[in-house]
Amino acid sequence: MSFREELNRQYAALGVSEQVIALGEEAERKCCGRFADIDRISDLNQMKVLQAFRENRVSEAHLMPSTGYGYNDIGRDTLEQVYASVFHTEDALVRSQLVSGTHALAIALSGNLRPGDEIMSPVGKPYDTLDEVIGIRPARGSLREYGVTYRQADLREDGSFDFDAIRNALTEKTRLVEIQRSKGYAARRTLSVAEIGELISFIKSIRPDVICMVDNCYGEFVETSEPTDVGADLCVGSLIKNPGGGLAPIGGYIAGKAEYVENAAFRLTAPGLGKELGASLGASRLLYQGLFLSPSVTAAAEKGAVFAAQLFGDLGFHVSPGPEETRHDIIQAVDLKTPEFLKAFCCGIQSAAPVDSFVTPEPWDMPGYSDPVIMAAGAFVSGASIELSADGPMRPPYTAFFQGGLTYAHARTGILMALQKMVDASPDLFSSLQ
Ligand SMILES: *Cc1c(COP(=O)(O)O)cnc(C)c1O
Repeated sequence: MSFREELNRQYAALGVSEQVIALGEEAERKCCGRFADIDRISDLNQMKVLQAFRENRVSEAHLMPSTGYGYNDIGRDTLEQVYASVFHTEDALVRSQLVSGTHALAIALSGNLRPGDEIMSPVGKPYDTLDEVIGIRPARGSLREYGVTYRQADLREDGSFDFDAIRNALTEKTRLVEIQRSKGYAARRTLSVAEIGELISFIKSIRPDVICMVDNCYGEFVETSEPTDVGADLCVGSLIKNPGGGLAPIGGYIAGKAEYVENAAFRLTAPGLGKELGASLGASRLLYQGLFLSPSVTAAAEKGAVFAAQLFGDLGFHVSPGPEETRHDIIQAVDLKTPEFLKAFCCGIQSAAPVDSFVTPEPWDMPGYSDPVIMAAGAFVSGASIELSADGPMRPPYTAFFQGGLTYAHARTGILMALQKMVDASPDLFSSLQ
């Protein structure tokens, strides 16, 4: 059997037709140049991570578990120093006790804010799950209940910063500015590290004493620098996204100025205890190994996103970012126009999952989100969106937020299976689009 015959046979086993294969091959050919750029960035980040391991003399003893209080857990402490080296910060808190990105953000916020302080977002409304953390939507235990207020400056229509609005939103009370790098579920652009740097310079020129904190979720290792390289005081993210490299089974990180990291640690454990407690149990080895793999896993996911943008863009769907645009996170938004297409897309991604390929995703009211959300994920680590996954709120324009893929080959296959499900759901898809 020729390679081509073998390939078509494998695709057929996955339910992908020759028409969809041909579209995929055409899209992939157009992506070569951008794939090479992504590899170059990944190479630099791999060296940066390796050097952080060397600098901190990571050794076999660091991979061992600790139990109980976790006093003198050198594996945990050294991992935090490795993160501090990668992010060029004074310190970092990297813990399996941080149960998610939202939790890490909530700890960073509540550890550093006091009654009477105000949070300001200069980039519009933050990620949905922070609504209840901050108290934008009333919630028990929100920062609002503790007397912390919130204010925001929206981006301008063209996605640029509204510097006048930002200046006006910086008040006497502002203690912390929350900058979200990735678009999340919003229809805006993701910010580049350079843009975040500009924004921080502007804010510090008015209020040098405010804490500039970046929600770095999905952004790690997509560029060669991180927000902490351009003035961010704190950078926060989830280990079941980019920096966990697909191996971290749980966790979050908070990297930044020692004082602010310590404030967060006093909130995570208890005042007076801080970073000294917190057993790593068996997680350290996977957190080290995941960080080490993260630059190449992130690159694989980003290539999948570029491929999806090219394929769906060529078919006439609105995609954000566009296939040629420079990327600052691993998320790809595709406006699928109808609830049927969004469901079919998610079904395709689900059936391409290594785990739970046989289940059918349905929209549900997810805690922390205001519209029903449909999610496709069959991950080795539950909910890990560095693994191939897609989700979208069931509201117009029925945008699928597609992300992840531990390998590019898997991401590409999943995307083709998603397109195939759409074709199956609406056989006249191609004629109606072209
Ligand atoms: C994923 C994400 C979070 C945190 O989400 P969790 O599901 O709690 O990890 C926060 N902000 C952004 C921009 C994100 O993408």
